[in-house]
Amino acid sequence: MKSLFSSQGHWFKGMLHTHTTESDGWLSPERVLKAYKNMGFDFVCLTDHWKVTPKPEKAPEGVLYIPGVELDGGATEAGNFHLVGIDVRDSAAFKPIKPNKEYSARELLELLRAENGLVALAHPSWNGVTCADAADIADDLFAMEVWNSGCDVEIGRGLADVQWDDLLSRNHKIKGIAVDDAHRYYIDSGRGWVMVKAETLSRQAIRAALEKGEYYSSTGPIIHDVLLDDSAITIKCSPVRKIDLVSSPTKGQSTLAPRGSNLTEHTFLLSNGIGRYARLRIMDSAGCLAWTNPVFFN
Ligand SMILES: [Zn+2]
Ligand SMILES: [Zn+2]
Repeated sequence: MKSLFSSQGHWFKGMLHTHTTESDGWLSPERVLKAYKNMGFDFVCLTDHWKVTPKPEKAPEGVLYIPGVELDGGATEAGNFHLVGIDVRDSAAFKPIKPNKEYSARELLELLRAENGLVALAHPSWNGVTCADAADIADDLFAMEVWNSGCDVEIGRGLADVQWDDLLSRNHKIKGIAVDDAHRYYIDSGRGWVMVKAETLSRQAIRAALEKGEYYSSTGPIIHDVLLDDSAITIKCSPVRKIDLVSSPTKGQSTLAPRGSNLTEHTFLLSNGIGRYARLRIMDSAGCLAWTNPVFFN
């Protein structure tokens, strides 16, 4: 059986979308990095609106700073798009972009790609972005936010599991990320993150692992390993109540622990019904979730 996380290396906990006083966040860049370091994070991508916030002079040791930016625009039926560029060029090299609500989603995406960013679709549930809205850019996105803590605590629209499956069901091979998008740093931080398996804690290694999909997203549970071959997928995880193998419409499988107990491992046989893709989602007794990226079948 092959592991979904086959690289040699270590697990690093990371934040890919968060704000500082350089836009509408409540903490300075230095204090944001310190806050995440204190919550056990290994890397943080600062993604202020329309601005690449430089690494603070007094950045704390032991937490890797990654430059990023968030752009918005591109009208949809219900609102607009927010796109996050992760690991863009440093602030000194970043060409300032004037905020312009007339940019289309494609133009925003190309602006971020021109700055070497990995582009993620931010909080589709908060914006009301549908699969039809995102179809034009979906194949050029690195990922979409399946979880956004800020949107969850603000209006209860942090979860975008359905939007992810809508895109996957239409054959867009898109990865998922969980993020905080923190602004206030009391109830909106440390609630959604990615765990990346990389050789070292460097921008280059983290980016390579993100691109390869060697990570999972979580709001609590830990995924120790996922093993797969032609006939089965096995997940090993921290104690959870429920494990889902989410697949194409009407396909997939699910298992629930007996009342009062938990699961830490489960094997799904693929012969029991599987569509064109499968992704694993687990839920613990507190209702916290974790998600693997999808695997695709011919
Ligand atoms: Zn946003
Ligand atoms: Zn944001």
